[in-house]
Amino acid sequence: MPPAVGASADTYYKLRNTKALLFESLPDMTKTFLSLDLEQVMPTNIPPTPTDRDIIYDWNTEGTNAFPPPEHKVELYDETLRDGIQSPSALDPPVDVKLEILRLMDKLGIESADVGLPAASQRNFDDVVRMIRMIRDENLGIQPACAGRTVVSDVTRIAEASQACGTPINIYTFIGSSPIRQVAEDWDLALLIKRTREAVRAGTSEGLPVAFVTEDTIRSDPEDLKQLFQAALDEGATCLCLCDTVGHATPAGAANLVRWTRDFLNDRGYQDVRIDWHGHNDRGLALANALSAASAGAQRVHGTSIGIGERVGNAATDQLLVNMWLLGWIERDLSALTDYCAVASKALGFDVPINYPAVGRDAFRTATGVHASAILKAELRGDLDLADRVYSGVPAAAIGRSQKIELGPMSGRSNAIFWLRNHGMEPDQPKIDALLRAAKQSNRTITEQECLQALNDSRS
Ligand SMILES: [Zn+2]
Repeated sequence: MPPAVGASADTYYKLRNTKALLFESLPDMTKTFLSLDLEQVMPTNIPPTPTDRDIIYDWNTEGTNAFPPPEHKVELYDETLRDGIQSPSALDPPVDVKLEILRLMDKLGIESADVGLPAASQRNFDDVVRMIRMIRDENLGIQPACAGRTVVSDVTRIAEASQACGTPINIYTFIGSSPIRQVAEDWDLALLIKRTREAVRAGTSEGLPVAFVTEDTIRSDPEDLKQLFQAALDEGATCLCLCDTVGHATPAGAANLVRWTRDFLNDRGYQDVRIDWHGHNDRGLALANALSAASAGAQRVHGTSIGIGERVGNAATDQLLVNMWLLGWIERDLSALTDYCAVASKALGFDVPINYPAVGRDAFRTATGVHASAILKAELRGDLDLADRVYSGVPAAAIGRSQKIELGPMSGRSNAIFWLRNHGMEPDQPKIDALLRAAKQSNRTITEQECLQALNDSRS
């Protein structure tokens, strides 16, 4: 049975439809006139802005909820400056640019960031020290972290970086744990356990928090994981980072692994040990997997700006932020989102795809008549929120953007009226006709210049 719409919304729709029918039955010239002064002509009996519940029925929360709200706080851990830079196409940007990216992460309330692998090179070490000093000196709210293999010298290098900047660094020490990896590397479990103990101990003995990262956890044998986790916990690890290193997981698989790990920790008396989720996008499921992992109990989810990372990349931090906000898991000012993606993508040498969610050029842009008409009508009601949501699952205003209506072969009168109003011009019939004539002759959305030229030509 279809969902019932609330009585107030029902009334609202009837009233709105009646007005729309009346309006549509008028001659064009009158409609143009009314469009200009719709609020003055019909100011009464417009219901107050309905609540989301009244005008948006949310099937997402009916029945089985794919992402039930977690009972715990979910934090973000940004990997742009580590896993992002590991992308085969990425540039390693100058440290000043890395500082700028960190400041933008801070504006977005991102709680932690991996700032590199100090053991990888002297430059990496120096950049890490510089970034962490800046985080401290500028009082950013970001907890810094660094990655290293489960090799004592890697962990020691992170401890040296921590001493050089006088700030604790969260150590993320990683080891391959899946049987397929063990076969490929000719490792056995005893060797992995030995390395785990030595590396975790090297970090905790320096008084630093250590997260134990099992690469390819999603394809690892639970009996192996039990022994590896226990070894890390014995040595004082305070976090287990579960990884879908190769992009194998489905949302159900991610949730299964997180729940199994939480049960394991609880059974062994490690209720305070945190669970992180780190996933890749090989199947295009990284975002869904991260949300599912968080729902199932992961307290921190990893991501990178626009998903840049190894192979096809990671879960995208920006998409996680948008979705966690829409799901009501976080309260956040997302107005820095576009800058964060633009600065990071440019620094790493990637273009933001034009059709990319929320921050792509076309995310809030339409040249289609049907879409433009609905948005324009909502705007003319003086209800900007309605205009922002009628054709957008993500409201543009939430990230500091706005709906943009342009003209193309699929456009109608509303596109022309919107365009003219936005350019401070009276939307009279000759101008509307001139714009639509140009738009209909084109095989694509026409440019600002072409619109102006069409108006100019119509005058001569
Ligand atoms: Zn990764």
